[in-house]
Amino acid sequence: RMRGRPADTSAAPTQYYDTSFETLPGFEELKIMRTAGDVLGIANPFYRAHEGCAGATTRIDGREVINFASYDYLGLNAHPAVRHAAQEAIAHYGTSVSASRLVAGERPFHRALETALAGLHRAEDSVVFVSGHAANVATIGSLLGADDVVFHDALIHNSIIVGAELSGARRRGFPHNDLDTLEALLLAERAQSRRALIVVEGLYSMDGDMPDLARLVALKERFGAWLMVDEAHSVGVLGAAGHGIAEHAGVDASRVDIWMGTLSKSLASCGGYIAGSQTLIDFLKATAPGFVYSVGLPAAAGAAALAALTMMQQEPERIARLAANSRSFLEQAQAAGLDTGTAEGHAIVPVMVGDSLKAVLLSERLLARGINVLPIIHPAVPHRSARLRFFISATHEDSHIRDAVRLLVEEVAHCDHLLAGLGLTMA
Ligand code: PMP
Repeated sequence: RMRGRPADTSAAPTQYYDTSFETLPGFEELKIMRTAGDVLGIANPFYRAHEGCAGATTRIDGREVINFASYDYLGLNAHPAVRHAAQEAIAHYGTSVSASRLVAGERPFHRALETALAGLHRAEDSVVFVSGHAANVATIGSLLGADDVVFHDALIHNSIIVGAELSGARRRGFPHNDLDTLEALLLAERAQSRRALIVVEGLYSMDGDMPDLARLVALKERFGAWLMVDEAHSVGVLGAAGHGIAEHAGVDASRVDIWMGTLSKSLASCGGYIAGSQTLIDFLKATAPGFVYSVGLPAAAGAAALAALTMMQQEPERIARLAANSRSFLEQAQAAGLDTGTAEGHAIVPVMVGDSLKAVLLSERLLARGINVLPIIHPAVPHRSARLRFFISATHEDSHIRDAVRLLVEEVAHCDHLLAGLGLTMA
């Protein structure tokens, strides 16, 4: 366009761009799922409303049901001491800290919680974010750049992938728990990248299995990579004291560069954190966008997490009870002929179903019989590996586990029959 001659916009088409939300990738799949559900009369299993405090049991549609869909591993969400701490903190500090800690300042519970979390991982320091997702995105996004590479397990949580994409680093997935392939990738990429980050989970949230931490530490030391372990599902679950996979595997926690965890599961709150060396934490507090440009953790969340961490330390029998319940669920499910995949009996036990429709139908029928368990379907897991995922809690009773396995076996048989009758069984 010539300088000084404004464009004539009067004759220009009005629609240069696609304004429809329906053409967005993924919308078609959503529509198909909804139509299939409507045709078959199956309600959406997601977004069920809980009418009270969700723990080992919960209230849905006015009925008390046994609950396997909350991450309340240690049963602390309903604990009077945890609730009281949150209430006291609100009374003292109010409900919000209003802005980023850089500008709106800190409250004593911020540093108290960060010191306690660092201690959990034998780290020099830690920093808390308003969610676990934000912690992963902001940390990976700030630590790596275009000259770097991220190696991650194929089943790693979405927040790690989003952080890696944000960073602009090359991203190399390796098959689930396949450290031979990781080793080959580390070798193949070594000349092309300045920094390398290996990311794994302490306990995998979809399958309930673990990586070989000792070998990962040896690999990262041999190649000079950073190792990051997401302990969202392993704090309060693995190790007799609940310190996570390092305690469970007998590996010195200081050999892992970056520990990540959430406050939303065993710690009965909301938020996420990174623990590691002082240099790492100082760097993140100065640069990680999800920390620098986002509000500080509110008082209720900070105080609840700190109280839950204290309860976990004071009552390690909760961790032992969770372990016993998890083993019991796994053994009973396997004895009943259910496919629990690679689950090792630590808090998360998937029951493999294969077909997404069958998983959704099973979830609905189990709810009708008093069991709340959610289906996990594509895209959260690969095609044809839909499952029902059971989260076990320290507060589940033996009868809860027995009833769940018995009803599940009955309903699997019933759904197979039903779907075969409709000609809908796909595998
Ligand atoms: N990492 C893993 C492995 C998770 O499972 C989750 C959440 N389920 C997160 C990170 C994100 O944590 P938050 O829910 O606290 O944002």
